[in-house]
Amino acid sequence: MKRRILVATTNPGKLKEISEMLDFDVDWVSLSDFSDIKEIVEDGKTFAENARKKALGYAKQTGLWTLADDSGLVVDFLGGAPGVKSARFSGEKEENRTLLDHKNMAKLLSLLKDVPKEKRTARFVCCLCLASPEKVLIETEGKLEGVIAENQAGSNGFGYDPVFFVPALDKTVAHLTSAEKNEISHRGSAVGNLKPLLEKLLKLKVRTD
Ligand code: IMP
Repeated sequence: MKRRILVATTNPGKLKEISEMLDFDVDWVSLSDFSDIKEIVEDGKTFAENARKKALGYAKQTGLWTLADDSGLVVDFLGGAPGVKSARFSGEKEENRTLLDHKNMAKLLSLLKDVPKEKRTARFVCCLCLASPEKVLIETEGKLEGVIAENQAGSNGFGYDPVFFVPALDKTVAHLTSAEKNEISHRGSAVGNLKPLLEKLLKLKVRTD
């Protein structure tokens, strides 16, 4: 029988992206397939802590192996901020996603005003955790290194993509197609790091179940 694995998201895009990359004989489900699930609050101090908390929390509630992620932007000049607060860096209770992204980027650019290019280094980080209801099974991380641009450029992607400049490509992430972004992104590389470990685990479980 196929193993069911819950991806701790209600975002159909994220479920599709993850299940396509992890193309194993698995029945992937998302939080939208369940009712009465108590939301796990992301109040950890690190991306890894949040991913672990969500994976264990939802695995315990559903009885399923659960894959959870947490990601964000780390800016060296700001001592690692916005970090785990990336989603609501501007402190706004703004519900409109596009407006929120603009407010977050405006705050970031104003904090880095007049900071020279060599001090504007940053990275996107993604931590993934796969857990059973009993314990953490796999944890991986992926990063994308870059520099915070002085202005927004490009219209693809989301979040901080228009201000995240990748020197090797000479463009911001918001100038990449989603396929180009997946190839180099923090999420893509965290999933890529998880893939061989999950493959091993699935084989092991088939033998011992
Ligand atoms: P989450 O882990 O998907 O909830 O991401 C948290 C926040 O980090 C998002 O709301 C964005 O502000 C930022 N972020 C994470 N990944 C990306 C990315 O690929 N591009 C731009 N911003 C990102």
